[in-house]
Amino acid sequence: MSANVIPANFSGHTPMMQQYLRIKAEHPNTLLFYRMGDFYELFHADAEKASRLLDITLTSRGQSAGVPIKMAGVPVVALEQHLARLVKLGEAVAICEQIGDPATSKGPVERKVVRVVTAGTITDQGLLPEKSDALLMALAPDKRLVGAAWLNLASGELTLAEIAPGRLAHELERLRPAEVIVPDGSDAGLVPLNNTGGAGAVGGSGSARTVQNAWHFDIRAGERALRDHFQVATLDGLGCSGLTLALGAAGALLHYAESTQGQRAAHVQTLYVETGDEYLTLDAVTRRNLEITETLRGAPSPTLFATIDTCITSMGSRLLSRWLHHPLRDRTIPQQRHAAIAVLMTEDKPFDAPRRALRDISDIERIAARVALGSARPRELSALRASLRAAPTLTLGLPLAQDALLERLAADLLVPNAPNDCLALLDARLHAEPAARLQDGGVIAFGFDADLDELRGLTTNAGEFLVALEARERERTGIPNLRVEYNRVHGYYIEVTASHAAKVPDDYRRRQTLKNAERYITPELKAFEDKALSAESKSLAREKLLYEGLIESLRPSIATLQRIARAVAQLDVLTTLAERAWTYNWVQPVLDDTPGLHITAGRHPVVVQQVTDFVPNDCQLDPQRRLLLITGPNMGGKSTYMRQTALITLLAYAGSFVPAAAARFGPVDRIFTRIGAADDLAQGRSTFMVEMTESAAILHGATAQSLVLMDEVGRGTSTFDGLALAWAIARRLIETNQSYTLFATHYFELTQLAGEFPECANVHLAAAEHAGGVVFLHAVRDGPASQSYGLQVAQLAGVPPAVIRAARKHLADLEEQAARVTRPQRDLFAGADVRVEEAATAAEHPLLERVRAIKPDELTPRAALDALYALHEELNKHA
Ligand code: ADP
Repeated sequence: MSANVIPANFSGHTPMMQQYLRIKAEHPNTLLFYRMGDFYELFHADAEKASRLLDITLTSRGQSAGVPIKMAGVPVVALEQHLARLVKLGEAVAICEQIGDPATSKGPVERKVVRVVTAGTITDQGLLPEKSDALLMALAPDKRLVGAAWLNLASGELTLAEIAPGRLAHELERLRPAEVIVPDGSDAGLVPLNNTGGAGAVGGSGSARTVQNAWHFDIRAGERALRDHFQVATLDGLGCSGLTLALGAAGALLHYAESTQGQRAAHVQTLYVETGDEYLTLDAVTRRNLEITETLRGAPSPTLFATIDTCITSMGSRLLSRWLHHPLRDRTIPQQRHAAIAVLMTEDKPFDAPRRALRDISDIERIAARVALGSARPRELSALRASLRAAPTLTLGLPLAQDALLERLAADLLVPNAPNDCLALLDARLHAEPAARLQDGGVIAFGFDADLDELRGLTTNAGEFLVALEARERERTGIPNLRVEYNRVHGYYIEVTASHAAKVPDDYRRRQTLKNAERYITPELKAFEDKALSAESKSLAREKLLYEGLIESLRPSIATLQRIARAVAQLDVLTTLAERAWTYNWVQPVLDDTPGLHITAGRHPVVVQQVTDFVPNDCQLDPQRRLLLITGPNMGGKSTYMRQTALITLLAYAGSFVPAAAARFGPVDRIFTRIGAADDLAQGRSTFMVEMTESAAILHGATAQSLVLMDEVGRGTSTFDGLALAWAIARRLIETNQSYTLFATHYFELTQLAGEFPECANVHLAAAEHAGGVVFLHAVRDGPASQSYGLQVAQLAGVPPAVIRAARKHLADLEEQAARVTRPQRDLFAGADVRVEEAATAAEHPLLERVRAIKPDELTPRAALDALYALHEELNKHA
């Protein structure tokens, strides 16, 4: 930092540098953008960093106190694009403006940091991701709990929760905060940091981390701050009774948010407390595996969200994303949404008209936030005005009488006719087509303010005066081509070409000499100029004042605007879900108390879009049929089948129709997945370690109402212990967790579990041999698969024919050997084309005798593991 280079006392520096260093000292961890005329300049270490991150030139100019001043600058007009880049990189930027008047100030112009821009506190339209939220989160951890508060500054939603430390990672994955504030001294590993090396903080997989003094997180101070903010005597009415650490986090959060804005966050008008059991829990891995809003590779498409999001407004898109990430446990709200979609799905497509009307609606939610923060621009206000005008038309053609939710939303859309009715205010005060920037003028309506109209009159009437003056002067001087003109540098002047120079009267005073002409001013023109110029600057100042007044008078309506925004977003999502259900032929799911998941002819909502002939499949799970063991060849469709079951369940509880012919669900509390085997190298965990960590989490967390997807458990290790583990895990899920489980496996031996447990059933993905190759039927059938088609799949994948032939021959040898060993052993190798090596050595090994003696069918899981350990020990001795 510059503090390392610059002596702590600033004397000896130029006055401007002293001012800079003073301001910089107050913002040590942010890049300070220091306004100098048409540029924001960065100095010293900030300049070096910015030049690296933004690819801008680093220069060095002069010296201050013997230290060369390194500089880098960005033009004021390009501020937004540079901010966007820095914020994406997780940097914080302090914007320091010139406050004083350069003309009158002695020494450097007065400057002040007007706001600080960070990943979690951006509210600018140009910086925010349009279809997702940028949340700011604060965490206050102690040994047993983590107090959390998170704020969507661009909409004003504040939420508090207290989370068990073990759940924090899942909550971070669910909320994906853009920035997390933690107290200094707290565990650095609390939040996985991701603001280095260009990975985006917003929309990326990590968050920018900001450390604040621990005292900001004080619980009592937080409680007081919340009471002050919401103007209440006690927080109990807001549902906060019993909260402690979360209040501290909320206090730190509000303080930080408001200090970055240099403003009170007046649009934060309610507070929501999450208790932890309102949402169907999706752990972090599941959220990623199901590719809800992001593919496993981090792309926005193809995902569930991308398939459904035809929302017209970005408010709708953001709400849809929230709904998909927050399926509810209680069925009341999802059922209300289903009912609304159902009445929107009638023959005459009542979702069409409102969707057309939605095109006239802008992002009211974010504009309202900017009104509250005093940063709304003139064009945003005119967009707001147009939106408010259009809002009532959203309800035209809606079957309101048939559905309570739609009726309620329609009621929310009608702006009450209160004295501070925003539409009336905007109509009266805002220019019909306001300029983009306040400083250009032309943003306040004509006829609203007499003073402004008079000042404007002076400037507009200038034209007439100048025409008249020109005519008069031509006549007086006899110069026919004399012209009265204006430019920004020289102001008003009378131009006379050189050929008429002799005729210029005495009262003309020379202002400028050109090649072929002279420019003059007269006392009369000078007097006019003074009046006109001052009228213009007065008029601009007046407009600024009136515009600020307009924003001020809109503030009391923020709650109304937020209510309208929420209603618009919900109507957008409901009509979108209706349109999607109509287009994709989805059905209304039934949610009731009868335990189980029953899907008839279910489809994977995303894969069905990508293949020509998707084969729908049923899925029946209930207390009598709790675990389905799924076998079948690679590429047979096992993962697709498992994922579609989870996605259909998720959609139903998010309130959407579902891709199936029929679907009925009893209560579901969590969805767990253990899918795919990717090495988590970033965290130094091998495939097998990841697999077992995830399995452990499932065995600890899954209940009889949970849906568990297990894909290829045990594959990360050798055949025997992998099989033993898979087998023990499956048994545990049946006997103890009693969860609804889809268990895909390559271990054919596991199919014997169905004989042992009536709650376990075998299904397989059908495939057929065809002309030496394999045809995947993608159909789920009862019973175990007959073979695994490994060689055929390898052939399909382009493994050279000679290799396939060699493998086929070797397989025949292996099968012959296997036929000579005892029955349990043979089962172990059935279809074992991928386990060639073990089989080959096992046949010769002295341990074989011991293995033969083992009767897996008669072992308890514990005894199986003991036997396995004993075998390993023996093996090591032989090695
Ligand atoms: P597995 O998990 O058995 O290896 P996947 O579920 O990954 O197989 O499916 C492999 C491919 O087969 C998918 O990418 C998809 O193109 C296709 N597929 C899967 N299920 C179906 C289905 N029900 N109907 C049509 N194609 C399917």
